[in-house]
Amino acid sequence: MLYINMDFSDVVSYFSKMENTTKRLELTSILAELFKKSGEDLKKLVYLVQGKLMPDYIGVELGLSDKLIIKALSKASGRPEADINKIFSRLGDLGSTAEEISSSGIQKPLIIERLTLDYVYQQLIKISSYTGHGSIKTKMDAYIDLLINSNPIEIKYITRIITGKLRLGVADSTILDGLIEAFSDKKYAEDIETAYNFHPDLGYIAENLMKNNIKELLNAGPLPLIPFKVMLAERLQSISDIREKMNHNAAYEYKYDGLRTQLHFLNGKIKIFSRGLEETTSSFPDIVQNFKSYYSFDSCIIDGESVPYNPETGELYPFQMVSKRRGRKYELTEKTKEVPLVMFIFDILYLNGKSLVDLPYPERRLIIEKNFKENEYFKLAKRIVTDDESEILKFFERSIEEGCEGIVAKSNGIDSIYRAGARGWLWIKFKRDYQSELSDSLDLVVIGAFDGHGRRKGTYGALLLACYNNENDTFETVCKLGSGFTDEMLAAMPRLLSDKIIEKKPARVNSSMEPDHWIYPSLVLEIRGAEITVSPVHTCAMNIIENGSGLALRFPRLIKARDDKKPEDATTTKEIIEMYKSQKKVIEKS
Ligand code: ATP
Repeated sequence: MLYINMDFSDVVSYFSKMENTTKRLELTSILAELFKKSGEDLKKLVYLVQGKLMPDYIGVELGLSDKLIIKALSKASGRPEADINKIFSRLGDLGSTAEEISSSGIQKPLIIERLTLDYVYQQLIKISSYTGHGSIKTKMDAYIDLLINSNPIEIKYITRIITGKLRLGVADSTILDGLIEAFSDKKYAEDIETAYNFHPDLGYIAENLMKNNIKELLNAGPLPLIPFKVMLAERLQSISDIREKMNHNAAYEYKYDGLRTQLHFLNGKIKIFSRGLEETTSSFPDIVQNFKSYYSFDSCIIDGESVPYNPETGELYPFQMVSKRRGRKYELTEKTKEVPLVMFIFDILYLNGKSLVDLPYPERRLIIEKNFKENEYFKLAKRIVTDDESEILKFFERSIEEGCEGIVAKSNGIDSIYRAGARGWLWIKFKRDYQSELSDSLDLVVIGAFDGHGRRKGTYGALLLACYNNENDTFETVCKLGSGFTDEMLAAMPRLLSDKIIEKKPARVNSSMEPDHWIYPSLVLEIRGAEITVSPVHTCAMNIIENGSGLALRFPRLIKARDDKKPEDATTTKEIIEMYKSQKKVIEKS
């Protein structure tokens, strides 16, 4: 059958529909309908809906700055750049600026290309892939080509994709639901989600679903060199609660305070990825070099935490030493000599061609012990296997003395598989802070900002923060944050947030407060607070603990930005409910 490529105008009409709804079910159905129409263009379409050309871990940058787009708009319309800049300042969005320029008339060629989705995708690939001498001109020409061959609405969305601001308000989980609705049966939903967690590339999932390769997806475990979504821990506030929850059958490991590290090895090639699936191999030359000299597997995937340490004393250094290493490529070699890293291995997902994720944890640990001899650069997470409360407490105290954050209990149960991307009760963390009256810190998303007054004039006085409700894919407000900022941070805030300000309430935000500026959910901050209280103004867990009320964090203060977390990795509503309940329990007990 001859396949006719999908028209981009068709895609764009669906984008407009999506912008007009915030209801998840409706979004899912719109996506499903669009996916069904796309035929062989599906994979490209799925990336474009995400505002991308490929999955994040491949690291494709579109690479056309706002300035160059303005230049291109000026060239194609014959209007001075100053005019275009004025429109841009008025509209605050380059997509709408391009739309206005396009509708007010640009020089069009005699023959206009039929703008297909495939054509747009290929031009965007051109924009992303040209580098080196003369590349700026080639990139601008590709953009101008798209501009003259598209109508105003098409160029609006194309420009937004190029500037990384498509913002249709659909999370990966909604796209996944749309794909399942279009091509599969709901009964496979959980397995497809697991496949996605091991292979977080929606294009790959889409292609397999469309080709009806359901078997391939159901068997999709981890694959070396492809990052997976790491397994996460729940939290409890007392060791006895943890022992009970674990059915008195658990191991306890040190909770190292470093950088989550997934190391992949295949036929001599190593790749390292962060918790957020970003490839960070070049930041760890010492680990890469030493892995090859100590171990000789065909393939493997291990999960662990990399921590800087003092090789003289074996003492662990604070996490900040590692974070300094990230992104400072040119100082790395020197820095590596000064501050070597040790990777504490706590899990293994794959070895010599075989997935191990369905084995229970005790078996996976045995495999680590058998295959990974400890050395200066690779150590096994320290652990004990016991149910004795005082022994666990002593182990916990030792972990703090040795520079760790606490301990992680790991279920020894028969069902203790490696659950990618899931925060579950197979792992439970217990940190030092849980022993004070405060619960754990929260990772919250900035969704709004209030103008500052007095000393804070010209910057923000407070930020509106939200948690993530992963059941209905919304961000629910938890607190207004006004303290913990240093003067530098405060001064930097408007710049840091300026390109995230949007005119109306972002699609997935649920807030009854109206801040001075809405912020598109992307920045995650680590926040500590005094306690979680019932609140009539915040929407987190609305009507769950009390009718007409939600939950709020009292006296929040900023600890630091969590740039390793995406908004969907923020503390969830469910976690805050759990924190509220266990805090109540502590108060009742004392
Ligand atoms: P936190 O902010 O407390 O580090 P998180 O959201 O990054 O939490 P959690 O799943 O809540 O992640 O806590 C587990 C984290 O602890 C892991 O992401 C990992 O980086 C770190 N960690 C350190 N040692 C261990 C260990 N032995 N087993 C599992 N995780 C460990």
